[in-house]
Amino acid sequence: MSFDSLGLRADILRAVRELGYDTPTPIQAQAIPAVLSGGDLLAGAQTGTGKTAGFTLPMLERLMAMPKPEGKRRPIRVLVLTPTRELAAQVEESVQQYGKHLPLRSMVMFGGVGMQPQIDKLRRGVDILVATPGRLLDHQQQGNLDLSKVEMLVLDEADRMLDMGFIHDIRKVLALLPRQRQNLLFSATFSDDIKALADRLLNKPALIEVARRNATAETVAQKIYPVDRERKRELLSKLVRDNNWYQVLVFTRTKHGANRLAEQLGKDGISAMAIHGNKSQSARTRALGAFKAGELQVLVATDIAARGIDISELPHVVNYELPNVSEDYVHRIGRTGRAGSNGEAVSLVCVDELKLLAGIEKLIKRKLPREVVPGFEPDPNAKPEPIPNGRNNAGKRRGPPRQNASGKARPSGGQQRRRRSRSKAVTA
Ligand code: AMP
Repeated sequence: MSFDSLGLRADILRAVRELGYDTPTPIQAQAIPAVLSGGDLLAGAQTGTGKTAGFTLPMLERLMAMPKPEGKRRPIRVLVLTPTRELAAQVEESVQQYGKHLPLRSMVMFGGVGMQPQIDKLRRGVDILVATPGRLLDHQQQGNLDLSKVEMLVLDEADRMLDMGFIHDIRKVLALLPRQRQNLLFSATFSDDIKALADRLLNKPALIEVARRNATAETVAQKIYPVDRERKRELLSKLVRDNNWYQVLVFTRTKHGANRLAEQLGKDGISAMAIHGNKSQSARTRALGAFKAGELQVLVATDIAARGIDISELPHVVNYELPNVSEDYVHRIGRTGRAGSNGEAVSLVCVDELKLLAGIEKLIKRKLPREVVPGFEPDPNAKPEPIPNGRNNAGKRRGPPRQNASGKARPSGGQQRRRRSRSKAVTA
């Protein structure tokens, strides 16, 4: 298949050719016609699949094909929301590249930089605005922004936006948009929170899901250590000590479990700290700094805490407990063995987790090698116990910290904004 048959105009095809693309990626082949048809879209795709062109190319085509809104000023016709500054900048750069032969103007807007240049740019008129939610709302509150003419909304990496606690901001932004519009939602994962957001936002969406890139990086050696539930900590200490592991990122399922494990490792003489949503940002930053500097041997993290921070290319990732959602396994081991460096991802698996393990192996289409450590042979008669699904650990649920989702114990708007900008400082 070539780009020529997708219904894009010559000026867009020229830009695509100039970038050296000759074949649409699977997400592009499906998303481009779906978006051109004018309907809503729910797409499962992560970075690297070509998703940005998947929504940008048909968006540009539609902006050109639809009648220009009346009036002298150029209204904002497309709003793209992204979780991070980096992604916002990348997406806007793509918009510029793909639209370089078109008479459309785009702009990127995020926090941490001065407001005035953004205000000036808005005043000059912008067709396509790519923004992070916080700064967008700041401009809205100051009256710098008119979103009443938006024809298309794109939520990019929606799962990450929810993980970072942006759901309330997203809701506020939605309230500023006209009811009649096209909505596109891109997400690498489909948690219950994403499904709920999609239900609220999308009208009979086309559904597209493309295979995960890099389902199991070849450079990551993966191994399962079968072990009894009660002996996991002992085995972890032994593995860290015997193999002289350093910079080990250990995943637990719960915040409480992370705390307890970090304490116990400390008692075993292994320097360890826990990071999770209940820790203050300064405690998290401190732990991360010490870990990156190599002063801390082990960092214990929950999935959500680990997703919001930039730690990658680690030599060792340990699944102290398997995640409830198989996709999280892929996210976790993606922290290691990047860019050709060798990494090792090991999982300590007890009888309770065999079903989770089967789900992971199905997802990655591969059976993982087992290795029993002498002295840690699991009891063959052990009975599986249910994995606790407490309030903070409900089954397949993922997304923003529970206290946010439930609305209880939620910080005030101001606190939340401050907390968010602090967490941005860490991710940036
Ligand atoms: P994305 O998933 O949108 O972040 O895109 C990942 C990378 O793939 C970017 O560097 C794009 O420039 C590149 N890319 C996107 N579509 C194509 C294509 N059809 N052919 C070749 N490269 C592409």
